[in-house]
Amino acid sequence: MSELAPYATSNASSRGRRHPEAPPNNRSEFQRDRDRIVHSAAFRRLEYKTQVFVNHEGDMFRTRLTHSLEVAQIGRTIARALQANEELTEAISLAHDLGHTPFGHAGQDALNDCMRDYGGFEHNLQSLRIVDHLEEKYAEFNGLNLTFETREGILKHCSVKNAQQLGDIGERFLKKQQPGLEAQIANFADEIAYNNHDVDDGLRAGLLSIEQMREVDLFNQQYEEVMQQYPAISERRAIHEIIRRMINRQITDFLAATSAQIKSVNPACADDIKQLPAPIAVYSDEMQGKTRQLKKTLRTSLYQHYRVHRMSTKAKLVIKSLFQAFMDDIRLLPTDTCKNASIEYNASGDGARAVVIADYIAGMTDRYAIREYERIFDPIKLT
Ligand code: MG
Repeated sequence: MSELAPYATSNASSRGRRHPEAPPNNRSEFQRDRDRIVHSAAFRRLEYKTQVFVNHEGDMFRTRLTHSLEVAQIGRTIARALQANEELTEAISLAHDLGHTPFGHAGQDALNDCMRDYGGFEHNLQSLRIVDHLEEKYAEFNGLNLTFETREGILKHCSVKNAQQLGDIGERFLKKQQPGLEAQIANFADEIAYNNHDVDDGLRAGLLSIEQMREVDLFNQQYEEVMQQYPAISERRAIHEIIRRMINRQITDFLAATSAQIKSVNPACADDIKQLPAPIAVYSDEMQGKTRQLKKTLRTSLYQHYRVHRMSTKAKLVIKSLFQAFMDDIRLLPTDTCKNASIEYNASGDGARAVVIADYIAGMTDRYAIREYERIFDPIKLT
């Protein structure tokens, strides 16, 4: 790791872990966090969770796992260039989507609807719940016992009501502070990754066309550059050349704009960045306008495309049906989960039982959720 700037989160200043542990031997604390994330069951399940396209649509599309790897790689590049903590950025990036339900945002919306009377469901909070409570791997604690900084970085949004129940990790939201620099970088890296790979996947799936994308300035500028330089290039290679240039443009702009902010604010320590009235990590005004235009096209042409909408509708049906069936009869749940649901119900009532069921559903991959649906509702499928 390159030398850290004074405003970076340092290993030495970490607020530590909930359960104290001896320091690692050959790694930093944040490297240990990263390793625990990579070894978690929730991380492996990301392989079969949807980003935009349901997993069985095809093998070439991004899943949450490849998305998370792209986020980490972009995040590390940015962190190193800004002399922020690259290892912390990597850990936050790899963990940021752990709490996603099957079927992407459609799945989350459906589960949130199901949980409306029991506090709702939010994937971001669920990521924290996984690393704090749900992973069962270590002898001495539940969860992964990550450092405060990684946990705080994972929690991107949080309502005041939820923040009040989270103790120190929720403080930032009550004090209206900014995320740490490394969390801000991971957040931008997330956006850069999905804005670009969704164009690639959308074109590959035939839901977006090059003509359509040429109406987006950021795409069209790179398109013209590539076509001028390589007039005979194949379409597939051209798309890749355009997208890699788009990513490069966004990162370069982000680094210039954020460096200028750092220079003018001149933060003396990591905490100074959290105290600012707005995030220090920014695009230039021009790039902000361009990414807004790109996002708008993705929203109207890809995320709202009727084929994506059909998948989303089906996904919601699967999630809602499973939730209702388990709520009506917990004996449909696998033995351990059923036992858990019953213990929670006896101790704290309906809401606690609903949380066990939501945890179970949220942990499913796309294909597992579809199989569970078939096992429960398809009279022909008995296993
Ligand atoms: Mg993401």
